[in-house]
Amino acid sequence: MDVPRLKQSWSLVAAHGDQVPLYFYSTLFLAYPETRQMFPTNMAGQRDRLVTALGHIVSQVDQLDRLVGFLQDLGVDHRKFAVRAEHYPAVGEALLATLRHFLADQWTDELAQDWAAAYGLVAKVMTEAAQAAESVSPPWWAAEVVGHERRAFDVAVLTLRPQYLLPFTAGQSIGVSHPAVRAWRYYSPANAPRADGTVELHVRAAPGGAVSSRLVYGCAVGDQVHLAAPVGDGLTLGPAGSADLLLLAGGTGWAPLKALVEQVAAEGSRRRVDVYLGARSRSEFYDGDAVEKLVSSHPWLTVTQVAGLDLNRPGEFVFPVDRALADGDWRSRHVYVCGSDDMVSHTVATLTRSGFHAGQVHHEGLGRHWYGASWRTAAGGPAISDDSGGAR
Ligand SMILES: Cc1cc2nc3c(=O)[nH]c(=O)nc-3n(C[C@H](O)[C@H](O)[C@H](O)COP(=O)(O)OP(=O)(O)OC[C@H]3O[C@@H](n4cnc5c(N)ncnc54)[C@H](O)[C@@H]3O)c2cc1C
Repeated sequence: MDVPRLKQSWSLVAAHGDQVPLYFYSTLFLAYPETRQMFPTNMAGQRDRLVTALGHIVSQVDQLDRLVGFLQDLGVDHRKFAVRAEHYPAVGEALLATLRHFLADQWTDELAQDWAAAYGLVAKVMTEAAQAAESVSPPWWAAEVVGHERRAFDVAVLTLRPQYLLPFTAGQSIGVSHPAVRAWRYYSPANAPRADGTVELHVRAAPGGAVSSRLVYGCAVGDQVHLAAPVGDGLTLGPAGSADLLLLAGGTGWAPLKALVEQVAAEGSRRRVDVYLGARSRSEFYDGDAVEKLVSSHPWLTVTQVAGLDLNRPGEFVFPVDRALADGDWRSRHVYVCGSDDMVSHTVATLTRSGFHAGQVHHEGLGRHWYGASWRTAAGGPAISDDSGGAR
């Protein structure tokens, strides 16, 4: 398989922008109308998600070893869309037809074979993982909303009770869908697993956001939502770890880090945990009572709230990492970071410059953070940003 050629051909196709997903979905739905119901009624937000992901994954097939875990998670996770083994060839066919269309006379038999082989490998890993999961867990869990509190104009804290136990580890995220909006998004439980199985979510409404707006403004106690299998290990604590922790959170990025605090408490380990919790203004700290309760119950825990403008960088808000580094030397700590994309990238870059090594800095990876307000609201910039490419 000629991987450089795969990558080069993908970048040629991707240059056609929005036309690519448009062609892909038209081809898929025309040939296989039954696949239409797996996608949201309104396809606007979906536009390039699947095709972009597919293109990137398949053209990185030379790193399959590194991708296997991710693809397995993806295969298991896609059961929530009612994706079955027979749908994979349909998507593969539409992908190849799309490539052929945009590459025109640069589409050769060899390239077609390479793309088919690469897609086949990816589909095989995903299908096998999905099949293995059949006997272990349902494709999704029904859950009742048993608590719904608006804690800020755009933030709600929800408590959900799944019908059956949904196992997860503190720091992971779970898929959430409201039946009124046929779309799934990830949210991070803000608690360690509880005996009664309930899950707390901290949701910030993205302006125009389909799922978050529904969960914050259009959802009430008694509603049913659907939950899907947990994903991600970037923010989980190692099983036998004992290092002291520094937790840096922005906005609702506090949720998975609060779960870690609860896990440390449940394990009764002797770790020290220091949290820096960032927001653009003090009124955005939406979980004050819970923070106070945690701090007063656990002598090994401190929480410092960081809000307001950074006097050293006009027009920008102060980041939790800058305040933490001004307060002390944390280089013996494991650091967990969660917040908006710009908060995470600033934090990781600052920690690296300050002598922290990659193995002690934990985050979900860039391009995956939609949690909170942007810290960069300098004149003219979008007030809030996320990785969808749309302002929020
Ligand atoms: C691992 C993970 C964990 C997460 N945990 C949390 C959490 O604990 N709490 C939390 O609040 N969030 C969390 N998120 C973010 C969450 O999953 C959603 O992405 C977020 O709530 C927005 O979803 P939405 O459906 O409301 O918005 P979407 O409908 O997906 O839209 C997102 C933004 O893009 C804009 N947009 C949509 N479509 C278009 C388009 N066609 N063109 C231009 N702009 C467009 C919208 O206006 C909106 O501002 C997490 C994300 C990940 C990946």
